[in-house]
Amino acid sequence: MTDEFTTDIYYDDDADVSTLDDETVAVLGYGSQGHAHAQNLDDSGVDVVVGLRESSSSRSAAEADGLTVETPADAVAQASYVSVLVPDTVQSDVYENAIKPNLEAGDTLQFAHGLNIHYSQIEPPADVDVTMVAPKSPGHLVRRNYENDEGTPGLLAVYQDTTGDADDRALAYAKAIGCTRAGVIETTFQEEVESDLFGEQAVLCGGVTALVKHGYEALVDAGYSPEIAYFECLNELKLIVDLMYEGGNMEMWNSVSDTAEYGGLTRGDRIVDDSVRENMDEVLAEIQDGEFTREWILENQAGRPSYNQLRAAEQDHEIEEVGERLRDLFAWAEEDETEDEAESA
Ligand code: NAD
Ligand code: MG
Ligand code: MG
Ligand code: MG
Ligand code: MG
Repeated sequence: MTDEFTTDIYYDDDADVSTLDDETVAVLGYGSQGHAHAQNLDDSGVDVVVGLRESSSSRSAAEADGLTVETPADAVAQASYVSVLVPDTVQSDVYENAIKPNLEAGDTLQFAHGLNIHYSQIEPPADVDVTMVAPKSPGHLVRRNYENDEGTPGLLAVYQDTTGDADDRALAYAKAIGCTRAGVIETTFQEEVESDLFGEQAVLCGGVTALVKHGYEALVDAGYSPEIAYFECLNELKLIVDLMYEGGNMEMWNSVSDTAEYGGLTRGDRIVDDSVRENMDEVLAEIQDGEFTREWILENQAGRPSYNQLRAAEQDHEIEEVGERLRDLFAWAEEDETEDEAESA
């Protein structure tokens, strides 16, 4: 553990997979996270049972990967450690129907995202440990990194510790799926949920796509060609983000031309100005007071009318059609990557 940061970070030496020697872990769901956690746990020598509905199309995949599959209820009954990796929107149903009736005192109830606990959609009994191990990466990378002896950074939080061992058990799990190889940051359910929702709404998903669309529209409306607008405002974003990912904003500024640097530094704050920051504070307040989550729960109960309409409008945006045509022209880039992967496999 290192304490140079404002929070604790745990590595392999801080965790012991044998903590889980007498336990069986039920991994509920075999999607992005579920397939990676289940296989990594299994490869790390932990007893795993996958919980999927009889009708689930993921059953054959889990069985082909050599794992035992039960119904969610039976998996929980067999297990002492329950990792909830079904979609956030169905977790409270799965909890009521399959988990709650089969939880026993001293079990661990674990999540990879704190939404349902933090906003009280799941209210666990007082006699179980409630933890979170959340890889900061999609599941296919959690699996690929593990197979390549690399790690995936993750978050760890303890919401309820009744056994006195909640943190050691969660750390053992984090080690077994490969997260402590890279580093596991300690957080709380509240911090993980609120910062995650804010990041995806304001910056990563909502903010970036809105910025890209506005930039594209500004160029096309001014008479520039859609193809050029697509490259300038969307395609090149990847090159810029890769530099930021490698070395922060400064690596990006140092790599682009001085003209780009001066133009960006003088114009950036005019584009994303104080009014945008005020909008961000509003969006954050709606997350903090639960308004966003209430809206999303009602939206799901109503059959997702707004969600479906917004998705359709996004699909209809001209940038999608232009991009599809251009990506076809540049398909050679992807074919090359596939060949490389096939060669290295
Ligand atoms: P997913 O949609 O990829 O997979 C869901 C799985 O659950 C599928 O196997 C599906 O068959 C199964 N499932 C769906 N409905 C079910 C039901 N009613 N009963 C039983 N099984 C059901 O989900 P995901 O993206 O892996 O997300 C799982 C959890 O991990 C969520 O809490 C999510 O917030 C969190 N998380 C996801 C990522 C990511 O990058 N995908 C990253 C960190 C955390
Ligand atoms: Mg049990
Ligand atoms: Mg999220
Ligand atoms: Mg340029
Ligand atoms: Mg420069």
